[in-house]
Amino acid sequence: MELIPVRYFSNDGKMLKEPGGSKELLLHMCCGPCSCYPIKKLREDGIEPAGFFFNPNIHPYKEWDMRLKTAKEFALKSHLEIITDENYRLRDFLKRALAAENTENGRCRMCYTWRLEETARFAAENGFKAFSSTLFYSIYQQHELMKETAQFFADRYNVEFYYEDFRTGWQEGIDICQELELYRQPYCGCIFSEEERYSKAIRKQKKKENKEKKRARLAAQLAEGGNQNESSIF
Ligand code: SF4
Repeated sequence: MELIPVRYFSNDGKMLKEPGGSKELLLHMCCGPCSCYPIKKLREDGIEPAGFFFNPNIHPYKEWDMRLKTAKEFALKSHLEIITDENYRLRDFLKRALAAENTENGRCRMCYTWRLEETARFAAENGFKAFSSTLFYSIYQQHELMKETAQFFADRYNVEFYYEDFRTGWQEGIDICQELELYRQPYCGCIFSEEERYSKAIRKQKKKENKEKKRARLAAQLAEGGNQNESSIF
């Protein structure tokens, strides 16, 4: 079995060893499965990234451990250099998430901000030309919000943000993941998202809200169509 250079952080968040491979692109990896398509696509485009696993949003402990192991397994199978944060950060996450509850986009904005800022900062401090994230592969995340956030930190840390909409390879990514026999998680990451995934009451409420949103969207479209018809008459 071929060994890959896995690097570790100390408890104060400092890395113990410099990354030694390509410094072209630091790719934040939210998990192994979401990395399958972006890595394939980047390599097809001639870019050899280094993976960066920094996900304080994954809970509980066994789930976080499983996703970390799966990210390493993926790196091993795909011969990817990977840099990993090996600290389980539930308490820090909860402090930040609860404080963000009543703000716009709440905890998800905080969560994207934390992970993307850390990626941009790490890329800048370790001489990477650019950074990106496998979060841009997910069809479930708030793509535009993440894009704005990443650009904001690119400007702050003076490092390029490499943007690509990896969602176009959604099915291909699933196929690669199955081929590699990687563990696929059933929910986004934090304990709140775990509750949303399994609580029947929350799912029922969400379904109702989505139906109402859809109804409002259709009504707005119909009203807009009506206005256009009226203006085309005159
Ligand atoms: S739902 Fe997902 S993106 Fe939002 S806070 Fe939880 S882990 Fe982060």
